[in-house]
Amino acid sequence: MENRLQIYNTLIRRVESFIPNEEGKVSMYTCGPTVYHFAHVGNLRSYIMEDLLEKTLRYAGYEVKRVMNITDVGHLSSDADTGEDKMLKGAKREHKTVMEIAKFYTDAFFDDCAKLNIKMPDVVEPATNCIPEFIHMVEVLLEKGYAYEAGGNVYFDTSKLEDYYVFSSQSEKELLVGVRDDVEEDANKRNRNDFVLWFTRSKFEDQALKWESPWGIGYPGWHIECSCISMKHLGEYMDIHCGGVDNIFPHHTNEIAQSESYLGHKWCNYWVHVHHLTDKTGKMSKSKGDFLTLSLLESKGYDPRVYRFFCLQSHYRKPLEFSYEALDNTVAAYEKLVKRVGSLKKGGEVDREKFNAYRQRFEEALCDDLNSSMALTVLYDMLKEDMGDATKYALAEDFDRVLSLDLTAAYAEKEADKGVDAELERYILEKIEERKGAKKEKNFARADEIRAELLEKGIILEDTREGVKWKRNIPWKRG
Ligand code: AMP
Ligand code: ZN
Repeated sequence: MENRLQIYNTLIRRVESFIPNEEGKVSMYTCGPTVYHFAHVGNLRSYIMEDLLEKTLRYAGYEVKRVMNITDVGHLSSDADTGEDKMLKGAKREHKTVMEIAKFYTDAFFDDCAKLNIKMPDVVEPATNCIPEFIHMVEVLLEKGYAYEAGGNVYFDTSKLEDYYVFSSQSEKELLVGVRDDVEEDANKRNRNDFVLWFTRSKFEDQALKWESPWGIGYPGWHIECSCISMKHLGEYMDIHCGGVDNIFPHHTNEIAQSESYLGHKWCNYWVHVHHLTDKTGKMSKSKGDFLTLSLLESKGYDPRVYRFFCLQSHYRKPLEFSYEALDNTVAAYEKLVKRVGSLKKGGEVDREKFNAYRQRFEEALCDDLNSSMALTVLYDMLKEDMGDATKYALAEDFDRVLSLDLTAAYAEKEADKGVDAELERYILEKIEERKGAKKEKNFARADEIRAELLEKGIILEDTREGVKWKRNIPWKRG
């Protein structure tokens, strides 16, 4: 198991052998969602690939402890501490309280994760749970001279560091291009990239969540969350920190600045970043207005696992362009794959030698900087190999510990669903006829009732010029 995984480390900008701080154990931290809106499928790409990393580590024999935060306070529209407060924006949009918004979108996020077979991290911690920890870190940074108060806020002083731009040799100007949304100057800052550790006298008069602090009533900056939450659960030395590439600057750069200044030593050894999902117009983002969610894909009839498969087909360090055409190809490939695995005869003896040889090939592909498409090739090769069904079935089950595509179960599930469809179809057609009759008699109440009865069974009626059409609301029901 030792040194098996080769992984690209953004800190040194190359692939290197993974060596954890403690033999056999891995501490891993993931930047969680800002829960002011649904996750878009781009966000979910990051979480799928991070899930793949965690499961690869477990498959390779490591014991993993994974922590994720939930950002329910402190994240402004721009990652550089300017613009609106995202949570407040969500609350205003929906006429709800910030905590209602946080609860609703946290639940929605984990629903999406469950549909994508993303494992729940061992620890999930909302930022609002850790205010005393944030305050403590800010106090220490002030004491050590790394922070200053100005205009009611506490800032981190980036000029105190020899190497603030740890991730890149790029110039400050180039890096700022990565900062999202509106960038406005904050006159309180001593240096352009100084960032807020604690806000007081919020510029948002209706700022909902505020806490007492030594600097007045206020709320934490976004970056401090991840430093404190990861240290709270994983200690002073961490193995892996992940996120999407847009987190490299300023978020992760600032996390390192404050954590290492606070600790006085190196903090995290490996920084793993997932590249963006794009569409024809560029990077997928929520600020663009309409954005693609998993529920939208479901309502169009796509199985969420197909989206997972779509992501696994390409490497996490390459941008991935989303299109319905590409997704349709993945639907066909997924159905064929699960049919093939689902049709394997169960029972009988497993050829241990072949099993181990394929298992090793599969693990090697994943351990080669998470080469998921190569891992899928190993799966296809294995299914083509001249060996008994029992061995193939056992291997598919084993590979699925990492791939999480429900390889052995999905086909039976889809077939069972079709069975229901045949029965349902007769019922639907009867109801459509009955509704036609009700409408003819101007009994619109009954017509509406029938529509509602069908909806309860997951069927949507559409009145079109060519007559009444029906479709499934969600074509499969899971968990
Ligand atoms: P947020 O909820 O905005 O804090 O983002 C959650 C995660 O999604 C972060 O790790 C981001 O880096 C990542 N992310 C944001 N946009 C994309 C995208 N288009 N493709 C992949 N990951 C993304
Ligand atoms: Zn973070």
